[in-house]
Amino acid sequence: MEVTQLNGVGPAVAAKLGKLGLHTVEDLLFHLPTRYQDRTRLVPLNALSPKSACLVEGQITSSSLQRGRRVSLRVNISQNGANLGLRFVHFHANQTKSFTNGRNIRCFGEIRPGPQGLEMVHPEYVLFDDVPPALADQLTPIYPTTEGLSLTRMGQLIAMAWHQLEQGSLILNELLPHQLISRYQLPSLVASLKQLHYPHLNQDLNQLQDQVTPAKLRLVLEELIAHQLTLSRAKQRNQRLPAPVLAVKRGLEQALIKNLPFQLTKAQQRVWQEVASDLETPTPMVRMVQGDVGSGKTVLAALGACRAIDNGCQVAVLAPTEILAEQHLNSFRHWLEPLGVVVTFLIGKQKTQTKRQSLAAITSGEGQIVIGTHALFQEAVHYQHLGLVIIDEQHRFGVAQRHSLIKKAPHGSGLHQLVMTATPIPRTLAMSAYGDLDHSVIDELPPGRKPINSVLINNNKRADVIKRIHQACNSGQQVYWICPLIETSDVLQCEAAQDTATLLTLQLDNINVGLVHGRLTSVEKADVMNRFKAGEIQLLVATTVVEVGVDVPNANLMVIDNAERLGLAQLHQLRGRVGRGQTQSHCLFMYQAPLSTMGRQRLDILRQSNDGFVIAEKDLQLRGPGEVLGTRQAGTIGLRIADLMRDAHLLPEVKRIAAGYAAYPDKTSQIILRWVGDRKAFAKV
Ligand code: ADP
Ligand code: MG
Repeated sequence: MEVTQLNGVGPAVAAKLGKLGLHTVEDLLFHLPTRYQDRTRLVPLNALSPKSACLVEGQITSSSLQRGRRVSLRVNISQNGANLGLRFVHFHANQTKSFTNGRNIRCFGEIRPGPQGLEMVHPEYVLFDDVPPALADQLTPIYPTTEGLSLTRMGQLIAMAWHQLEQGSLILNELLPHQLISRYQLPSLVASLKQLHYPHLNQDLNQLQDQVTPAKLRLVLEELIAHQLTLSRAKQRNQRLPAPVLAVKRGLEQALIKNLPFQLTKAQQRVWQEVASDLETPTPMVRMVQGDVGSGKTVLAALGACRAIDNGCQVAVLAPTEILAEQHLNSFRHWLEPLGVVVTFLIGKQKTQTKRQSLAAITSGEGQIVIGTHALFQEAVHYQHLGLVIIDEQHRFGVAQRHSLIKKAPHGSGLHQLVMTATPIPRTLAMSAYGDLDHSVIDELPPGRKPINSVLINNNKRADVIKRIHQACNSGQQVYWICPLIETSDVLQCEAAQDTATLLTLQLDNINVGLVHGRLTSVEKADVMNRFKAGEIQLLVATTVVEVGVDVPNANLMVIDNAERLGLAQLHQLRGRVGRGQTQSHCLFMYQAPLSTMGRQRLDILRQSNDGFVIAEKDLQLRGPGEVLGTRQAGTIGLRIADLMRDAHLLPEVKRIAAGYAAYPDKTSQIILRWVGDRKAFAKV
């Protein structure tokens, strides 16, 4: 049943739902809340605790404009002698006037510690004089939505879908095996869904969100099974058609190894052997190479490329960002053009003329290595004889995207895939997140690397830090200054980086300051990066866009502003941008005091270790489940209710059960469609 069959759902709403992968009424039922809000009761102002979202009420006692880095409006409210501040960064003049002293206000929002005590930033609110607005009679489920589709509307749509189910115009098939249901005494599918969409009132919110109830367990199992089946189906499909046999030849491969200014590490040699032996068989390789930042993955990619070209095949190298693509272009050209290899570049925003030339070279086969972003796999790109695809920073590409690459192979033929990632992923997680990939680890850094010296610095020592940058730049070194996400909005984040760059330009005489952030065009970004690489820019102020892959060996000092706000894995990746040259590198983690005990412990881990795996493990112990894979990767994996860390203990069982589905291709398709749906384009198998 298509969503358009629901009352009031036209093509416009359907299109928005489509963006979320919701096409059918059944899809809506499986669109689960990510959390809940309690708007059924008021929390007294004297009982507020930070970090919780709640409904409060009070009387306005004052309101005033405050000057800080940007103007904000602060409204104070009180109730029985307790106070709370409301803060607005975006507001209209009318809004300012409406906050008159003595009026009552009801607000919903998250409580945070502010400079003047607890506050709510941008609460939802209603002003009232006598009669208070009614309280909700149910917990409010929070659904993922998309622009132009409010949470309220989403709730209504799901209620309509629910109505169809209750009317019997929609039936949900049982797709779990009976033994599993009885072993865990799982409730029925409908009862489980109902508990999540419409939870009973008197439940503890935290419990509801964090605890795996039988209802939740049921859905988690279903989802993990669906996920597992998706991965094994992907693996089968990846390997359905034979790939070219890439045998060892006396050619480029040897020439490259001979020309390299260094010797491959033992780990690189071992991993290259693993890759090479995959390439030598007609079974398409699907292998992930994991190696900490700086472990030297790129040269392995280049070796793979040589092997393919030696056997008359083309190679595509896919990077997640244009900056990285450009970087690879430089490395590959540097290594391989002297050997007579033609390296072609293709990104989305090229000039028409350049793009046309690239496309022609790809079609004719003149371009032996093609480097670029997603543009590599668009309709208009026809390869002459693609045999190997190399994907850098795997976690940004999902299973489905990888599958779409295979279509670029010559008709009737498969491809070898090599994916490279710096993200340290514990083994069990890697198996479930990337279950269709074989796995190699480069567990050794090239010799002679001086470990990066990391220090924690209180934000109030900023002046000293600036002095230090001055000295570094004056002695010919280069510096990164990272401004991580502080503002939630992309625009504000870039503005913050801009402000920092402006300020640093003023404070650092004679130093060329560059700025790179997500809102620059690709040409602008590439230009700044090239000037940094060329040494023209000495200090590069950046948002976290430089996180992966950027390689400027002369940069040996990095300052990370507000370091306490970033995840350890991300900080480690960022730090990996320095320590690439011969001189001692330093990373200054600048924090905003006071640092919580946990915050201090976390940064201490980074100070003490330069090993991505150690850091990931410690982070896991400290922060518990769910954080290690990071939201970006979790998002790529696209799980709705299962949590790979929390539910890791279920995985062996899930694998076993999934194997039992082999006899039931129908059920397999149905459960995949239900949970993975077309978000990964596996519906149309
Ligand atoms: P990553 O694994 O983070 O992608 P890169 O491939 O960018 O790392 O390598 C980091 C740096 O180390 C590059 O400058 C590269 O040329 C150099 N490198 C790679 N392998 C070796 C090696 N065996 N010995 C010395 N330097 C190496
Ligand atoms: Mg790299």
